[in-house]
Amino acid sequence: MNWNTLFFDSSNSFVELGAGLDIVRSRGLEAKLYNFPLCTVPEAYRELAPATISDWKKTYLEECNGCAIKEHCGGFFEWHPKNHGYKR
Ligand code: SF4
Repeated sequence: MNWNTLFFDSSNSFVELGAGLDIVRSRGLEAKLYNFPLCTVPEAYRELAPATISDWKKTYLEECNGCAIKEHCGGFFEWHPKNHGYKR
């Protein structure tokens, strides 16, 4: 119901997230990106995005077929709205 208000499309802009991660890591703290499809994260930060969605609630989109990094990607929650989401 509140998808448009709460969802932040990190595939469109990673500037703020990347800056936040850089600050946290520069202070010696561990940072992880939970539940981020890998292709929505710039390559330099992908090591911080483990596949964290459990198998029973994980799904992939049609566009994921043939993806070279699928085995490392956590995909999407089963209930991820198919008509909303990441632009890139
Ligand atoms: S499997 Fe799908 S969501 Fe994951 S990186 Fe590949 S295209 Fe993106």
